[in-house]
Amino acid sequence: MKKREIVKADNDYFMNVFGDRMPIVVDKGEGIKVYDKEGNEYLDFLAGIAVNALGHSHPEFNKTLKNQIDKIIHCTNIYYIEPQAKLNKLLVENSVGDRIFYGNSGAEANEGAIKLARKYFKVRDEDRYEVITTTKSFHGRTLATIAATGQEKYQKPFTPLPEGFKSVPFNDLDALKGAVSDKTCAIMLEPIQGEGGINVADKEYLKGVRELCDEEGILLLLDEIQTGLGRTGKLFGYEHYGIEPDIFTLAKALGNGIPVSALLAKEEVADAFKPGDHGSTFGGNPLACAAAYTTLNTILEEGLVGHTLKMGKYFKNKLNELIEEYDFVKSVRGKGLMIGLEVDLNAKVLVGEALEKGLLINAVSGTTLRFLPPLIVEEKDIDQVVEILNDMFAKYE
Ligand SMILES: *Cc1c(COP(=O)(O)O)cnc(C)c1O
Repeated sequence: MKKREIVKADNDYFMNVFGDRMPIVVDKGEGIKVYDKEGNEYLDFLAGIAVNALGHSHPEFNKTLKNQIDKIIHCTNIYYIEPQAKLNKLLVENSVGDRIFYGNSGAEANEGAIKLARKYFKVRDEDRYEVITTTKSFHGRTLATIAATGQEKYQKPFTPLPEGFKSVPFNDLDALKGAVSDKTCAIMLEPIQGEGGINVADKEYLKGVRELCDEEGILLLLDEIQTGLGRTGKLFGYEHYGIEPDIFTLAKALGNGIPVSALLAKEEVADAFKPGDHGSTFGGNPLACAAAYTTLNTILEEGLVGHTLKMGKYFKNKLNELIEEYDFVKSVRGKGLMIGLEVDLNAKVLVGEALEKGLLINAVSGTTLRFLPPLIVEEKDIDQVVEILNDMFAKYE
């Protein structure tokens, strides 16, 4: 298809939920680069929104996937599945979770997590069902997960929402304490809010939240969908805080682009799910699990977590230099390779200008540029990006 035909088929037939898309047709990718239909090259510092952790067309990943496709793609969870068993072991042995359940998207993993938190108290005959979340959070697009998402713009068009959710300001422990009642079953948070603007939880805050949960006998549910799997320079975001969640969720990078999500919980919590309580047709199928196993295994074996920490520091130092250079560059936020650059300019316009200069990034909030490169990124790539930013910013001086 020609580019204009592709754009027309989108305009004519696709539900207009994404508005005007960025004006390129992505055609293929290799490493940290993607190419459009016209052969133009882009540095992919968005990685499909924190998905392509290993970059594009990773040889070992692609080989594993091709082999699995030739063996079997899907059966059902009625049967035992070897790639799933291997993934169970790898994920549980490398995290604080004891048991796991697979879904197909982040929202779905969070739905499962909310169900599990409620069931945990049901089996104890306690009438606790309310989930406290934070404002500016993002937990997905299903009805329950928009109820959990503390942003009115996602909720308002779809009322009535499921009951039992309220949100309080992020990084405000007193607000959380004030919101806990005898109906509260869980506190649900992202260690670093992604869609809400790359807002990092303070160390004291998250430690305080853990203590609050322990005191009140309620569950801590961490949404690690964006922060998980090495993105922040630790395998999981909670490792930065020296705390352990009772339940946590993973998606985005888990399948390196193959849709798969996971819900993990401590044994005592997971035990609340009984046969028939939850399920999924596709969740945890052989292809998805082979993809996730290879992704996680590669992240671990290639030392990509430590590499991410190192590259994140390098990148942040370079971005901090831009603050010195330009008055309108305000601050750098984030951990590892989950970075937000706050500017006193229209971030959306800058994202368009970056695209024209061969750089893919996006805007979260009107004034924050978000960088989420593949974890395999190198110093030279970061240098190139900083050069592009310098180029872009120079004209605003
Ligand atoms: C992306 C995201 C989700 C939703 O994931 P989907 O796969 O789009 O359903 C939920 N929580 C966080 C923190 C996310 O970044």
